[in-house]
Amino acid sequence: MRIDVLTLFPAMFKGPLTESILKRAQKEKLLQIKLHDLRKFGLGKYRQIDDSPYGGGAGMVMRVEPLVEAIEKIGGATEVRSQKSETRADLRPAAQHKVHRIYFTPRGKRLTQSKVEQLAKKKSILLVCGHYEGIDQRVIDGWIDEEISIGDYVLTGGELPAMVLIDAVARQLEGVLGHEYSAHEESFSKALNRKREYPHYTKPSEFRGMKVPDVLLSGNHKKIEEWRSEHLL
Ligand code: SAM
Repeated sequence: MRIDVLTLFPAMFKGPLTESILKRAQKEKLLQIKLHDLRKFGLGKYRQIDDSPYGGGAGMVMRVEPLVEAIEKIGGATEVRSQKSETRADLRPAAQHKVHRIYFTPRGKRLTQSKVEQLAKKKSILLVCGHYEGIDQRVIDGWIDEEISIGDYVLTGGELPAMVLIDAVARQLEGVLGHEYSAHEESFSKALNRKREYPHYTKPSEFRGMKVPDVLLSGNHKKIEEWRSEHLL
C-alpha cells in the first residue's frame, strides 16, 4: 500500500513513522509512505499558502491553487467530482491506481475501526492535512473523496490525525504485525463483535494482594473463552 501525505509540516512525522512497527513495515516494503511539503507549492516569492476568509472573520484559510496543484501532481487528478468529465479532459491519472483522497477536518465522518479496515484495502491513499481555519471549500468539492474526523475536538492541524490513520491502517496490512500482536481479535474487530476487548493479565499471578482471576490460571480453555466474552465491553 502507498500513502502520500500533503502537509505544511513534514518534520512532524519523524518519530511516529521512523520507529517501531511503522519503521519495519516501510523497511519490508509492506507500506510506502511519502511526505510532500505543501510549502513548495506556495504562491510567489514568499510561497504563500493562506489568505483571509471571504466574508471576514478571524483566522486564515488555505488557498485553493497550491492545494490543487499539489493534489494533482501527487496523482489525485483522476476525477473532479464537481465538474463534468468532458470539461476535465486535461486531467489524466498521474498514478497507476486511483488515489483515494482524504481531507482531515472536524466536519468529517468519525474514523472507526471498520473505516480503517476499508481503507486498508485500498492500493493508494492521499492524506491532506489542514491548518489555520481549514481549506477553501472548492478543494473539498472538487478534489477530495472523503472528509474524516478523528473525534469531536479541534486540533491545530491535520498531521496528528494523519499519523493516527496511518498507524491504524498499517496494522491491518498483511505481514505488518509481528506474532506478538494480533489485529484479528482486538477491540472493535469483527471477531469481537466490534466490542472493546477483555482485560489482560501477565506474571506475577499476585501483586500486592491483587490476584489474577482464577479462571485464567485454570488452563480450561472453554472457561477462559467464556470469561473473556463475558468481559467484553
Ligand atoms: N476551523 C475548523 C473548525 O472549526 O472546524 C478547525 C480548523 S483546525 C484549527 C485546523 C486543521 O486541523 C483542520 O483543517 C484539520 O485538517 C485539522 N483538524 C483539527 N481537528 C481535527 C479533527 N478532530 N479531526 C480531523 N482533523 C482535524
